[in-house]
Amino acid sequence: MEKIKMTTPLVEMDGDEMTRILWKMIKEELILPYVDLKTEYYDLGLAYRNETDDQVTMDSAQAAKKYGVAVKCATITPNAARMTEYNLKEMWKSPNGTIRAALDGTVFRAPIIVKGIEPCVKNWEKPITLARHAYGDVYKNTEIKVPGAGKAELVFTGEDGTEIRETIHTFSGPGILQGIHNTDRSIESFAKSCFNYALDTKQDLWFATKDTISKKYDHNFKDIFQEIFDAEYKERFDQAGIEYFYTLIDDAVARVMKAKGGFIWACKNYDGDVMSDMVSSAFGSLAMMTSVLVSPDGVYEYEAAHGTVQRHYYKHLKGEETSTNSVATIYAWTGALRKRGELDGIEELAAFADRLEKATVQTIESGKMTKDLALITSLKDVTVLNSEEFIKAIRETFEDIA
Ligand code: NAP
Ligand code: MG
Repeated sequence: MEKIKMTTPLVEMDGDEMTRILWKMIKEELILPYVDLKTEYYDLGLAYRNETDDQVTMDSAQAAKKYGVAVKCATITPNAARMTEYNLKEMWKSPNGTIRAALDGTVFRAPIIVKGIEPCVKNWEKPITLARHAYGDVYKNTEIKVPGAGKAELVFTGEDGTEIRETIHTFSGPGILQGIHNTDRSIESFAKSCFNYALDTKQDLWFATKDTISKKYDHNFKDIFQEIFDAEYKERFDQAGIEYFYTLIDDAVARVMKAKGGFIWACKNYDGDVMSDMVSSAFGSLAMMTSVLVSPDGVYEYEAAHGTVQRHYYKHLKGEETSTNSVATIYAWTGALRKRGELDGIEELAAFADRLEKATVQTIESGKMTKDLALITSLKDVTVLNSEEFIKAIRETFEDIA
């Protein structure tokens, strides 16, 4: 078979630990034999981020903007222990945070459904995609531990010096304070990314906040979504036969539990952080999730939702066998290759991505899987494979299906 040609490079962001090992195996076993792969390579492994004072992360984000499609391996976000482990010059920021800030995007996560791994919520028949606003709120907060009695105020000073001042609380003893913000521009981007993704995937869009309590902050999110929807998207949604609706976050949670799935649930930053872990765990595992960051001007960055699987990596370093699930990382590659194929009009590339995903699902459904899935599957005849055997089994299935 002749290798599939590409016209535009993918931005390849390599990463750390066990996922870096899987990354290489996936490329060698599942992609390079079939695709004449064109990538612009950025090494986001912690050692090289440290060597370049994290410039490589910034450069990779700019490259993503230039080419439009990136695929990213999981990376270490340094903490105190990593400072010594990697002898770091600085506690570099999370690459995901840096890339999200550069692309101003929304993160969409959806479970990969296979027979034999049933969701805990038995009425969930189709995937639920979670759209998480990736900017602001508690993630960019300012906090004060109030030492004792006193008055706390919220003050805004305009560029022209005009002031808006509100009393938050008059403390009679010690307490705590927190200031958070968001910008209309970021909320507008969030809304547009969600509407575009709903149209792209032909799914209804739900959005929920706590606007009854937060009458200005959360209400602003609700209003911006509605204004943009009415002005720019209503007709297109009607034509596509899909729906946008807003409800209170409590109501959304109750409805989600009773729903069949097959929709996008847009959440503010914190709600999205918490709810995506809940939804993904209920669907099976973080290693069975797709994750893509979509920017308002149409840049796509595909990644796995889980981390670098450090515990497995240390076993691997000791020469012990690992059984690490590579599905989310494979889907990061297929997502990126399919999008590249769509944008460049290379049908074979998109078809290759479809076939590789099909092979992955079929391999698991035939009972061949990694340990994490073997622990939760309802299938009877199961063969537990190690990290490498699992990827090789997918290649065999891939070769078998026409
Ligand atoms: P993790 O890498 O997601 O792993 C936590 C545990 O979940 C693992 O020990 C393993 O459980 C299980 N697990 C996760 N992915 C798995 C897979 N593909 N196959 C099988 N089991 C899997 O989270 P972490 O250990 O808390 O974080 C490790 C590093 O990842 C940290 O340095 C963190 O900064 C980074 N991180 C990066 C990203 C990202 O780049 N997107 C996201 C999160 C965390 P068992 O050990 O029980 O088998
Ligand atoms: Mg989380």
